[in-house]
Amino acid sequence: MDIDDFEGNFSLDNDSIDKVLKDNKIGVYLLGSVDNYGDIFTPEYVGRSDNNIKDRLKQHASFKIQQEEDYYLIEDKEIEELDGSEYGNFDYDACTSFRFIILETIKEAFNVECEMYHELEGSILNTNHPARPKNKNWPCPDSLCNILD
Ligand SMILES: [Zn+2]
Repeated sequence: MDIDDFEGNFSLDNDSIDKVLKDNKIGVYLLGSVDNYGDIFTPEYVGRSDNNIKDRLKQHASFKIQQEEDYYLIEDKEIEELDGSEYGNFDYDACTSFRFIILETIKEAFNVECEMYHELEGSILNTNHPARPKNKNWPCPDSLCNILD
């Protein structure tokens, strides 16, 4: 699994999100920036939605607009509400675009999010390991990872 397996690049705004995504889909997304030709994607953040990736991306897009207009700084607490987990700070100025992959099951999405997190770890803004869905005890698919053990 790598960045090329994700569809994109798309601009992180409501019009683009409406064009490329249907409601109520499970998926994993990358937020990031693209070069001037729109070709090369630099990931800054990986996230997943277990029920509606379209809505999740719109939440990100609205926070981005809010930050641009009001210079409003997002606090950790609000990010936690947004993601339902413990994702850390991130800078929406660096996140003008997104890529995504739709998956059939929550477990597939969890595995893909973990794989991408480990592949990009250290170069992206996520500070915490992806969280498992509530009431699931799935291990991280990375055999070298024991964070969820
Ligand atoms: Zn892991």
